[in-house]
Amino acid sequence: MDEQPLDCLIIGGGPAGLTAAIYLARFHLDILVVDGGKSRASLIPCTRNHAGYPDGIEGKELLKRMRDQACKYGAKIETEYVTKLERDEESGLFAATWGSGKAVARSVLLATGLSNRRPTMDEELHDDALARGLVRYCPICDGYEVTDKRVGVIGSDSHGVAEAVFIRSYTADVTLIAPDKTMRLKPEDNEKLKDAGIECVDGPAQAVAITGDCIVVDTAEGHYAFDSIYPALGSDTHTQLGEMVGAKLADDGCFLCDDHQRTSVAGLYAAGDVVHGLDQISHAMGEGGVAATTIRNDLCSKEPRWREAPKELEEAAEGS
Ligand SMILES: Cc1cc2nc3c(=O)[nH]c(=O)nc-3n(C[C@H](O)[C@H](O)[C@H](O)COP(=O)(O)OP(=O)(O)OC[C@H]3O[C@@H](n4cnc5c(N)ncnc54)[C@H](O)[C@@H]3O)c2cc1C
Repeated sequence: MDEQPLDCLIIGGGPAGLTAAIYLARFHLDILVVDGGKSRASLIPCTRNHAGYPDGIEGKELLKRMRDQACKYGAKIETEYVTKLERDEESGLFAATWGSGKAVARSVLLATGLSNRRPTMDEELHDDALARGLVRYCPICDGYEVTDKRVGVIGSDSHGVAEAVFIRSYTADVTLIAPDKTMRLKPEDNEKLKDAGIECVDGPAQAVAITGDCIVVDTAEGHYAFDSIYPALGSDTHTQLGEMVGAKLADDGCFLCDDHQRTSVAGLYAAGDVVHGLDQISHAMGEGGVAATTIRNDLCSKEPRWREAPKELEEAAEGS
């Protein structure tokens, strides 16, 4: 590890990583963002609950604006996928490796997000349906858009039940469909569904076609047409790099962090969906800002970052 270390390597360029990049670049720190380019925000056709955009904004456009803002202040962004992270116990420095490069850094921010598990369906059909709001993943984000519509929730455990019950506040027409087998629920879950008037359908389920403005789901009990379906199949959190250096995880598989986004490993921070909490853009941005400020303060507590006077001012002072 003998090259000049970065002050911070940010892994992940979604709302969390890019917010941190904007802050850290404006703190005059030397940073690099390495991003795999698969932000969940890039899948959002139009977010309407993100404050400041009364007519909504496409996820890709929001990310572009954030990248432009970070680069304006000197952040560098590489589109790569980091495959290895190591930490030297003695120096506390991190070394990260990706396809075409590597970097050494005093601190690392993991803003690597998560992936939603997808329902059984053709990939092209999925992407088309997602772009048209026929497949949705986040009722907190866009439940409003299915007000009084026909909604199918694909899920069978308590998570599926909770999602169906949540959506019931937006519409009276909610159907819970088991993804792969006969619905088997706990008595208390059955009670909740009964109270809410939610119909249950046995699987296996497969979204098979878009007809007009509807998505058709094939189930063990026949074809159902919905205005939107919400898969409630859980998610996979991208914690692998943190685990390589020994970061502790919470019971839900997310990074365990203190109130300032520090993980259990000195110099390693985490923000956004990869940390336990509300999986939303606003939350990811908030944690990115907190993480960046903590990183700045932790670095400065080890070694003050006094700014040198500009050369012209020094020369003018010498001449006077
Ligand atoms: C369809 C959909 C609609 C949504 N709608 C809304 C909405 O309307 N409002 C709202 O607030 N939220 C919405 N969300 C949720 C929102 O997108 C996420 O909460 C947000 O993107 C989380 O930001 P993040 O930075 O933590 O993670 P992400 O945005 O997912 O970014 C993580 C980044 O890390 C990169 N990465 C992962 N591993 C590596 C690695 N090893 N090396 C390099 N890079 C890596 C990924 O490629 C990705 O670019 C929606 C999500 C989906 C899927």
